Amino acid sequence: MIMAATLLIDLDHLLANPIYDPQRCSVGFHPLHGLLPILLYIALCFHRKTRLVGLGLVIHIGLDVIDCQVTNGIWFIPAS
Ligand SMILES: [Zn+2]
Repeated sequence: MIMAATLLIDLDHLLANPIYDPQRCSVGFHPLHGLLPILLYIALCFHRKTRLVGLGLVIHIGLDVIDCQVTNGIWFIPAS
């Protein structure tokens, strides 16, 4: 279930061109990696039925943020 959630969130990478760019930060760039969706994922953690999905999504964002920091030296792309 957690894996399914984290795979679903990365479907928004398919909307980007190129689909995968190691120099690009996912967080703040892709529609499902924005501030509002992230707040929603955190909110999901507080409901018993959606906790695992929310947790998986928050972990996913966390990994994307760390990846961005390691490769680009910034935590996320600020909303324009
Ligand atoms: Zn991602």
